[in-house]
Amino acid sequence: MQSLETLQQLPFVSPNEPLARHTTIKAGGAAKIWVEPQNETELVEFLRLNAQLGVPLFVLGAGSNIVPSDAGFEGVILHLGKGFETSRVEENQLIAGGAAYLPRLTKFALENRLGNFEWACGVPGSVGGSVWGNAGARGWNGANFESRDSAADFAGAIAFDRQGNRVELGQNDVQFAYRKSSLGDLIVVEARFSLLPLSEAEAKKRKEIVRELLERRRATQPANAASAGCIWKIPRSLAARARARSSKGWDSKEKLWAARR
Ligand SMILES: Cc1cc2nc3c(=O)[nH]c(=O)nc-3n(C[C@H](O)[C@H](O)[C@H](O)COP(=O)(O)OP(=O)(O)OC[C@H]3O[C@@H](n4cnc5c(N)ncnc54)[C@H](O)[C@@H]3O)c2cc1C
Repeated sequence: MQSLETLQQLPFVSPNEPLARHTTIKAGGAAKIWVEPQNETELVEFLRLNAQLGVPLFVLGAGSNIVPSDAGFEGVILHLGKGFETSRVEENQLIAGGAAYLPRLTKFALENRLGNFEWACGVPGSVGGSVWGNAGARGWNGANFESRDSAADFAGAIAFDRQGNRVELGQNDVQFAYRKSSLGDLIVVEARFSLLPLSEAEAKKRKEIVRELLERRRATQPANAASAGCIWKIPRSLAARARARSSKGWDSKEKLWAARR
């Protein structure tokens, strides 16, 4: 209790924040403490103090892959504030703050004539949450929609550990697998993606593809419903069959059966 009172003295902290306000599933009780730093200095101040106090800590991004308990959270929810919603371009790299919103970044990348981030146009997550969980979806490969994810173009990140130490991560410092990464407890405040330089005409064409991707999503997913996205796990056996089918170009059960024999 004493610890929570100490934390409340920080200017960017508020008590009893309903998590239902911060999750796309619109559910969740109150967090005892809500911390929303706007820059690295505030983040470090909080992390150092919290490490001394030992209060349980959970990092929340855009809240689109989370179902919090109605009982709330007896600890601190750390949410990177608007100060972390940055985006800039350096040569062929898109560099975005941990709180930057993926659909906006897709648009920003294409406006700067950088391609391959189109997969993210309909994923309602933040950069931090999406790198941490290796988010992915269908994008564009010039002729067809192809699957792409955060890991595909990841070029590095800046993160903090829970004691407030700053870590610079290169492309090979993070391992990715299907919808997960090796980031663990690290808090991502910035990530870099190496993208594909486009001509004006190519960028225009891809903007049209993004429009199509979004239309397809709207037609197949209820856009305004409370949701945490896809919550089903594909069984390993089905995933393996699907991979076999796509690598061989097969599309019928009969052919798949023949291959298994
Ligand atoms: C309608 C809808 C459609 C969706 N479509 C897709 C899709 O096509 N593909 C897909 O992959 N996902 C999809 N999702 C799920 C979700 O949008 C992604 O998983 C997204 O990447 C989650 O990011 P977030 O910022 O919302 O993370 P959150 O839900 O806030 O958090 C998820 C995890 O990331 C961690 N985390 C959050 N921020 C940080 C940070 N800065 N540093 C370190 N860890 C952090 C959290 O602690 C938590 O463990 C969809 C969700 C919805 C609601």
